[in-house]
Amino acid sequence: MTSVYLNPVKAQNLDNYFCGNKYLVTLILFVCNKEESRYNITIAMEIKPSPKFDTINGLLDGGFILAKRPYHDSLWKPAGQAISAHKMIDDGDHLAIGVSGGKDSLTLLYVLNEMRKFSPVKFHLHAITVDMGYGISLEPIRDFCWEIGVSWSQVHTKIAPIVFDYRKEPNPCSLCSKMRNGALHIAAKQMGCSKIALAHSLDDAIETFFLSLFYERRIKLMQPVRYLSRRKVTVIRPLIYVREKTIRNFSESFQLPVVKNPCPEDGKTQRQEMKELVSDLEKRFPGVRDRLLTAFQKSDPDLLWKIP
Ligand code: SF4
Repeated sequence: MTSVYLNPVKAQNLDNYFCGNKYLVTLILFVCNKEESRYNITIAMEIKPSPKFDTINGLLDGGFILAKRPYHDSLWKPAGQAISAHKMIDDGDHLAIGVSGGKDSLTLLYVLNEMRKFSPVKFHLHAITVDMGYGISLEPIRDFCWEIGVSWSQVHTKIAPIVFDYRKEPNPCSLCSKMRNGALHIAAKQMGCSKIALAHSLDDAIETFFLSLFYERRIKLMQPVRYLSRRKVTVIRPLIYVREKTIRNFSESFQLPVVKNPCPEDGKTQRQEMKELVSDLEKRFPGVRDRLLTAFQKSDPDLLWKIP
């Protein structure tokens, strides 16, 4: 069953938040099409006026005006550089952000929301949380979005029961992430967003590199920008130059409302093995993460072997 409830709009200026009338039209279309949806989707939206933020002296860097504030060199600057170098955001874009409630996605939400206040490139944000069906409260995410003035939607799914109880998947991550991404892409498109921002960090990119090497016998990189032709959406990864350690420290010092991942596989995955491997490598070869980042950017594909 699909249920939609829309609370009274309290915002004084809708343009500050999401797509304004376009969003409401999209929402109505979405409700009309609900029977065709594969997912049980609930949209809960209440828009509150944005709280006042301190005036910040910005500096122009990487195409964006970034604030001189803590984490400038480790977070704001590399995020701005990634967005600029890979042309992630265009004027007028409507960006959906996948917000799981983890430290990474909350940090991305905070960063993009701050950037849009100072950026000469104007874009809109909408947070989407895919409820995996664990039965945990997502209210801290909703409240945080309201607090910073970003509209929020949740997509109810039964992904966790399907993966763990019904299918009893021995390697659940593959099916789980496919279903979660599918739900996110559908919801983003329904809401008129042509781009989806994901919170993958440099560490995620490095772990993906080693996962593909060790488990798939190929060299494959997580892309900063990727157009998904089947879905007709573009995935962007603004934190792809940022270290996970920075994100962890940032989310703690800004007291972001991190929701603990209830997944029974959390911390036991092949990705976790790669995380530990990279951590060991960093101890033996300090700076290896930065060198891998440079290698990802500058390696010549022609130097790979070719089978004639
Ligand atoms: S760790 Fe759990 S939530 Fe994450 S992809 Fe794997 S099964 Fe899904």
